[in-house]
Amino acid sequence: MAEIQKHHKPQKDEDEDKDKAKTCKRCKLSYAPSSNHSSACRFHPSFFVSRRHDDQRRYYELGPDDPPYAAKFYDCCGAEDPEAPGCTTSTHVSYDDD
Ligand SMILES: [Zn+2]
Ligand SMILES: [Zn+2]
Repeated sequence: MAEIQKHHKPQKDEDEDKDKAKTCKRCKLSYAPSSNHSSACRFHPSFFVSRRHDDQRRYYELGPDDPPYAAKFYDCCGAEDPEAPGCTTSTHVSYDDD
């Protein structure tokens, strides 16, 4: 019975990690850490809320059949579309960057 010598890989997990795609916890996109830069990530720094704007301006025109809670917007920029592109850019932040 020939014993096969298993070659243990040298520990180079950290090197491999550098180009492994990570998932950004802000925009939920996957990105290569090597291509991360200061404007790679577009996101809203605040939440999508359902209330009147602080300045009482009506960004959203409620239709006659719309319930009041239809007036939703991003607290940061006032964008009313949940799919609106982020109003702030920064670097991506992965889940293991904390
Ligand atoms: Zn991102
Ligand atoms: Zn925003």
